[in-house]
Amino acid sequence: MTPTDSDPDSCVAAGDSRLRRGGSLKFFYGPMDCGKSTLALQMDYNHARQGRHGLVLTTIDRAGPGRLSTRIGLGKEAVEVDTGLDLRLLVRDRWARGIRVDYLICDEASFYTVAQIEQLADLVDTSDVDVYAFGLATDFRTSLFPAAQRLFELADEVTRVQVEVLCWCGRPGLLNARIVDGAIAREGDQVVIGDTDDSDDDTPADVRYQVLCRRHHRTGDLGPAARTGGQLRLV
Ligand SMILES: [Zn+2]
Repeated sequence: MTPTDSDPDSCVAAGDSRLRRGGSLKFFYGPMDCGKSTLALQMDYNHARQGRHGLVLTTIDRAGPGRLSTRIGLGKEAVEVDTGLDLRLLVRDRWARGIRVDYLICDEASFYTVAQIEQLADLVDTSDVDVYAFGLATDFRTSLFPAAQRLFELADEVTRVQVEVLCWCGRPGLLNARIVDGAIAREGDQVVIGDTDDSDDDTPADVRYQVLCRRHHRTGDLGPAARTGGQLRLV
């Protein structure tokens, strides 16, 4: 029988996970604190348990280079994605060494380059690698990150991560605010690493991030917790 798109199960050849309907590119997005990295590790675990082999990638993770970490304490070694890294070559190099790569877990994908998102799409289309990308959609100004925009444009599936984050007022927290010296920032570089440890503050300005509802992002009202420190992270 010839496999067809209308028969999604017909391409699953018994015993060979490479003979499938082709890979897919999926993008999971949400504000910080919504559990994206936790979901990324769960996704890796689920696939590995089925005998699949994957690579975990991240960039500028709070735990430092080469590690994917989560706020709830999970972590895993990861390939650090520098701006010059060609993700196609990364995978093909593994294959050349006899290492299977069936899927990629791409955390902090909003901080990849647009070229790297194109490379991920190439891997899906030409090599049947499944790509699961996780990241922020928008920056502190509520503008799309270029890589996130490209993922929205190219992904087979786009999913807002459902773990709810609340603004201080109790509304759903949808947007990341950059707080510089206690006030919401409206301009600046798109990526600035915030203070991740308030006990050792050696950055010139106090930069942190806070998830707000749209109303309070627009008004810049940080709520009563603004004076207490609290949520420190990078965006
Ligand atoms: Zn609010």
